[in-house]
Amino acid sequence: MTVLEIRDLHVTVETDAGTTPILNGVTLTIRTGETHAIMGPNGSGKSTLAYTIAGHPKYTVTSGSITLDGEDVLAMTVDERARAGLFLAMQYPVEIPGVTVTNFLRTAKTAIDGEAPSIRSWTKDVKASMKDLRMDDKFAQRNVNEGFSGGEKKRHEILQLELLQPKIAVLDETDSGLDVDALKIVSEGVNRAKGKSDLGVLLITHYTRILRYIHPDFVHVIVAGRIVEEGGPELADRLENEGYDRFIPADSPVE
Ligand code: ADP
Ligand code: MG
Ligand code: MG
Repeated sequence: MTVLEIRDLHVTVETDAGTTPILNGVTLTIRTGETHAIMGPNGSGKSTLAYTIAGHPKYTVTSGSITLDGEDVLAMTVDERARAGLFLAMQYPVEIPGVTVTNFLRTAKTAIDGEAPSIRSWTKDVKASMKDLRMDDKFAQRNVNEGFSGGEKKRHEILQLELLQPKIAVLDETDSGLDVDALKIVSEGVNRAKGKSDLGVLLITHYTRILRYIHPDFVHVIVAGRIVEEGGPELADRLENEGYDRFIPADSPVE
């Protein structure tokens, strides 16, 4: 079993206005085999949490810790985090001009495993996963995220998830901008990845819709950089009916 432990995490970001605190003490434990949903209104710090786990240089951890099986994740480079078994699907994935999907995946797999996958089994795996995600073969020759539609970007993230086989995956708004059919295909991909290995999932979302397809064991509500409520799947049902209003103080400015 692998455990990602986030302890009393405080994170700031540099803006024109100076140093702004975004996360104000987030504590969370994710074990392999578990699916956690983090839900919250816009601007509550969900992506900041994802970026901090991934090691984005814009975000400064001022106190608290993130460990993976006791190893200090915050002391690891971005590459080391991936090799340790962490995977992040971004809300806004970046373009990589001149790098095709197929080369990108193979390079990432080689970096993570420490050796190149055997060509025959790798080609077979890529084809099978692309077929499962209803992706055209031609997609493999396109440059990463260049001109990808919203749905293609999300499918490409899940293709990586299926092929790279991390221990813990952080999926930031993997549901945003997807129609129901694409949402189902992407969710099935996550569920396949969960079935194949003992994947732990941190599913970040504003809406409850994706939770009909990917069932969380635990639901955490984040508001203003703090987890304000935790529960099981029933908490998501409550949020679907009641929204976030009851968590937000009446006098606070909300986007
Ligand atoms: P969420 O993903 O929940 O919508 P974010 O983590 O993206 O929230 O943002 C939380 C708050 O931090 C917002 O007020 C946002 O404007 C601010 N913020 C996040 N990242 C940056 C950044 N790189 N530069 C400036 N402000 C940021
Ligand atoms: Mg947002
Ligand atoms: Mg976000």
